[in-house]
Amino acid sequence: MKYVGAHVSASGGVFNAPINATAIKAKAFALFTKNQRQWTAKELDSKTIDKWFEELEKSKIQPKHILPHDSYLINLGHPSEEAREKSLNSFIHEIQRCEILGLDRLNFHPGSHLRKISEEECLDRIALSMNQAIEATKDVKLVIENTAGQGSNLGYKFEHLAYLIDKVEDKSRVGVCIDTCHMFTAGYDIRTKEAYDKTWEEFDRVVGKQFLLGMHINDSKPELGSRVDRHDSLGLGKIGWDAFKYIMNDERMDDIPLILETINEEIWEEEIQALYNLVEN
Ligand SMILES: [Zn+2]
Ligand SMILES: [Zn+2]
Repeated sequence: MKYVGAHVSASGGVFNAPINATAIKAKAFALFTKNQRQWTAKELDSKTIDKWFEELEKSKIQPKHILPHDSYLINLGHPSEEAREKSLNSFIHEIQRCEILGLDRLNFHPGSHLRKISEEECLDRIALSMNQAIEATKDVKLVIENTAGQGSNLGYKFEHLAYLIDKVEDKSRVGVCIDTCHMFTAGYDIRTKEAYDKTWEEFDRVVGKQFLLGMHINDSKPELGSRVDRHDSLGLGKIGWDAFKYIMNDERMDDIPLILETINEEIWEEEIQALYNLVEN
């Protein structure tokens, strides 16, 4: 069974996310638990927390189908130790917010070397940050997102994801989120059945399907392998509908949050419906 939703707004309070998800008939959703462009946030107060659980219950969406996303400011692989620690502290804070909200996973972008250190050094710093964050918290899974490889962002190769998983001591606390736009612009083709199967066999071999804990379902404005991160609405970009049909009929994607981050939120409800219409029985 597939659980499709979108990255909905939590503005005005986290409890608005399940309300906004329900409004578009989503069975899953993503949210920022705090402002994604600021380092600090007000602690979650008991009224907000109570309202969150109340609205979550009404939405009938389960925590395992919710994929919170961390702040854009965090760089766990920052070349400067001071900046890495600032990111780590903020990341730990975000994990704690997830714990308070009863969420079991947190999606993050691995990090950037900023052309100051090698890819491997940067990956080692990310792994160190992940182990330190795991040590400091209880049970949220850290979900590494693959990237388009724009600028100096790491995570654009399956090998990067595998490298990090390998270095994380507690494997029960780690997973990955595959973004279809990022995958495609990083050079992994999924447009034909043949290409799709080849890409996912490679994923299974290099990373392992047991680590797939979420997906971002986006079409792509840029071409295959362009290393540029620009999402498009489903069917309107360079990926096209076939790939989404393969996903909706692939059991690797059962029971995990499948999240739209497409550019026109006005049509999210239609996109969700269109995805469910692709399911073959
Ligand atoms: Zn994404
Ligand atoms: Zn993106």
